[in-house]
Amino acid sequence: VFITLEGGDGSGKTTQAELLREWLSGEGRTVVRTREPGGTEVGVEIREIVLHHRGDISPRAEALLYAADRAHHVATVVRPALERGEIVIQDRYIDSSVAYQGVGRVLDPEAVRGLSEWATEGLAPDLTILLDLDADAARGRLDEARTRYDRLEAEASEFHDRVRAAYLGLAEAEPGRFLVVDASRPVDEIAGDIRGRVASLL
Ligand code: C5P
Ligand code: MG
Repeated sequence: VFITLEGGDGSGKTTQAELLREWLSGEGRTVVRTREPGGTEVGVEIREIVLHHRGDISPRAEALLYAADRAHHVATVVRPALERGEIVIQDRYIDSSVAYQGVGRVLDPEAVRGLSEWATEGLAPDLTILLDLDADAARGRLDEARTRYDRLEAEASEFHDRVRAAYLGLAEAEPGRFLVVDASRPVDEIAGDIRGRVASLL
């Protein structure tokens, strides 16, 4: 079973992924918890480039770097785990690229999706949890938590508004795959909703 978490920076993906992993492990399931970019050794190097390179990266080059990270991650981590019958819980996947590179960077979203579908040989999540939070609330959380911003986190709130709208559009287009949760609610409530949906999937 392949579960992805999506949403803007500061929306709580990592917290919820960890709570879900703890719960599933407690239920006796074997879980692989991973993320993009940076879920492999090669990916860690790609992540450093896309998030902390000191100059600009052209939008198409950036999209290809994310796709390269994803191709290697799916081939060497995600698919093998799914083939072993394990549950994969992953921070960010193709929807991130469609929202950030496709809509955020104003590339063609369908072209960006096509690139990732090629990169992953069409591997789709069984469930995608979208943690929806407005950009200002997310920024507030990041300001509390962070000392070092990555390139994307420094983008204008207009950029993050577009990304948020893109995510909501993706969820609307595929209601069967998505669970959209209001990420401004208490952590435990959100976790409960996620457990309920995941339970119905297993
Ligand atoms: O979720 P995480 O904090 O690891 O994401 C790192 C950064 O990469 C974030 O600022 C996110 O906005 C950006 N990102 C992106 N396009 C992707 C994946 C992540 O711009 N496809
Ligand atoms: Mg982040």
